[in-house]
Amino acid sequence: MCGIVGYIGNRDAYPVLIKGLKRLEYRGYDSAGVALINAQGQLDVYKTKGKVADLENFVVEKDVSGTIGIAHTRWATHGEPNSANAHPHVSSSRNLALVHNGIIENYATIKAKLLAKGYKFCSETDTEVLVQLIEYVQISNHLSLFKAVQLALRQVIGAYAIAVLDKKNPKEIVVARKSSPLVIGVGDNEYFVGSDASPIVEYTNKVVYLKDGEIACITLGKDLEIVNLNNVKMVPEIKDVEFNLGKLEKGGYPHFMLKEVFEQPDCIIDCMRGRVNVESQKVLLSAVIDHKDKLLNARRFIIVACGTSWHAGLIGKRLIESFCRIPVEVNYASEFRYSDPLIDERDVVIAISQSGETADTLAAIELAKSKGAFIYGICNAIGSSIPRSTETGSYIHVGPEIGVASTKAFTGQVTVLTILALALAQEKHTMTKELFIKVLDELNRIPEKMKEVLYLDQQISNLAKIFTYAHNFIYMGRGYSYPVALEGALKLKEISYIHAEGYPAAEMKHGPIALVDIEMPVVVIATSGSLYEKVVSNVQEIKARKGRIIAIVTKGDQVISKMADWIIEIPETLECLDPLLTTLPLQLLAYHIAVCKGMNVDQPRNLAKSVTVE
Ligand code: GLU
Repeated sequence: MCGIVGYIGNRDAYPVLIKGLKRLEYRGYDSAGVALINAQGQLDVYKTKGKVADLENFVVEKDVSGTIGIAHTRWATHGEPNSANAHPHVSSSRNLALVHNGIIENYATIKAKLLAKGYKFCSETDTEVLVQLIEYVQISNHLSLFKAVQLALRQVIGAYAIAVLDKKNPKEIVVARKSSPLVIGVGDNEYFVGSDASPIVEYTNKVVYLKDGEIACITLGKDLEIVNLNNVKMVPEIKDVEFNLGKLEKGGYPHFMLKEVFEQPDCIIDCMRGRVNVESQKVLLSAVIDHKDKLLNARRFIIVACGTSWHAGLIGKRLIESFCRIPVEVNYASEFRYSDPLIDERDVVIAISQSGETADTLAAIELAKSKGAFIYGICNAIGSSIPRSTETGSYIHVGPEIGVASTKAFTGQVTVLTILALALAQEKHTMTKELFIKVLDELNRIPEKMKEVLYLDQQISNLAKIFTYAHNFIYMGRGYSYPVALEGALKLKEISYIHAEGYPAAEMKHGPIALVDIEMPVVVIATSGSLYEKVVSNVQEIKARKGRIIAIVTKGDQVISKMADWIIEIPETLECLDPLLTTLPLQLLAYHIAVCKGMNVDQPRNLAKSVTVE
């Protein structure tokens, strides 16, 4: 998690760093800090609990001059979010300052050694250990910062992206990465550093994605120097990055989340572009074309993902199994990686992650690779770690997602999984031509139908007011709607802090129905489809216990509409595509409830967008 920014050049570093931190604030926001070396060679470090705006208030009337600096917005792993634990951390001599994203797993051992040598620590973080270790190595061996970082990192177990400054050398920043992302922007006699490209694109589109285990010395007036941990020189690969800056702004919406919910019709069009061709009645997915044999002959697919991506994976399982008759397992990446899975070269692992940086998913990929499985990535962030570590994959192309609660990435993932299932079925001939065309046509209509759903925003906003004071919620659905129920409940939990559970509707009677009384709101996804009659019975069971029913139904519904306390009517579509519509009202419901409660929708407590720690 966390965001790292760095700058070295001829501009004032502080405004570049602050702007960059704001772009990265979605990654972590419990404290923020900045370190600058001013023209007199003095190292100034300012850090505070709270958000980037709090840091700005904190530095008012302080010296923030200097053309070199590093900055950080934190998502605490070791030590509570307070000013002492905020980054940058400085070394004992106060010559070095360091920002870090990740976890140093053997920090306690290193700390004990340094304490024995008389080092003192001011924070509870694992990060401070790193800056002290680098200084210790530097002083004891009379090394440059670059060399000291290389040697120190050999002693470190864990995940890191770091940026380090040495006030004795104000023309240099040293950065390194292992399992956490880091990008270097190459400008005209200036360099930028970011956890992703968003703080950089405003200034240059030339970037170097540092690879795992690489350390770079960024020196003003010189070319980048990159080595790996074994001191082998690496050639920097400078790439062009395409980023639409407008997409990083709120565009008139009060929150990124609402903007992203409303972007979904366009996102799905972007996601389908070039892949879904209604005229030729074909789908074209380059990954399937390029790796046909591997994918078509797979013994089974194993989906690994976390959070919302895992919910998309559950829908993907149904789609692939039903369209292509290939067995699919869905695993939490965090469980999979420690499960000693039975997996080999006959299996295909599909790794789903919005950021492409999810630490558990990356580790699951490495494990699956080591066992010979073929890896397929489904990600949003272009050039992120997962696409770079997988054999093939498909981007969801929904643009940067800034709101911490994932919305458009979820529907983008489901769309890609639908296209993948269709592409495989097309090759395997496991669907009738009629059904294939029906799904293809209907998929193509989804963006228009999404727009119709979004017209319900005001109705949902009014409904949300009724539930502002609820303490619990149940979401239920069956078949394709069960993962949607899980996703609806997760959205509500994430941003409104209301306890919510998603259940397969028929499971209610095996326990959870005991929770239902007149105060329990129950959201039921009850669109028309093969399980409709079954869901009617499940709704009866809730009604008999006086639960307050909010039903998502298909326009024109006659049965559940009469039983429910509130209904949200959405356009009809095929059952297998229902999640692409039914998810939207649930996103809006969670959003409006959170807004009514006065919550920080885009930056909910304790969460971060990109989960780069395990
Ligand atoms: N482990 C470090 C800390 O707790 C860094 C966390 C982060 O990535 O923000 O301070």
